[in-house]
Amino acid sequence: MNRNQHIWLSVFFSLALGLLLWKLKLPNLFIYSLPMYPTAILPDFIEPALDPNHRKFFHSKRMFKFLVICLVILLLLASFKSQHYFFWFFGVLGYLLHLIAESLTFKGLPN
Ligand SMILES: [Zn+2]
Repeated sequence: MNRNQHIWLSVFFSLALGLLLWKLKLPNLFIYSLPMYPTAILPDFIEPALDPNHRKFFHSKRMFKFLVICLVILLLLASFKSQHYFFWFFGVLGYLLHLIAESLTFKGLPN
């Protein structure tokens, strides 16, 4: 999956999520979703897709698991402490969307 496909996938998910937040009458959460756009392409800036084996630690299943734990913690913090944690929540979500998209490719994610 190349950078353009990641960007379009990120835009698609962001718009779908934005629409969902709007329908749920939470339009202010849409502002918090903005970090999702740059973080959705961040893994390919850290590990550029120059060859088919570019996927190392920052594209790995270990990184995925770590980020899922972070996502749950941030969701709990946003729910119970401050809504501002949604800013970080969506940032992590963008990175995870990238890894999910990569996991759907033939090569998948390394361990
Ligand atoms: Zn990638």
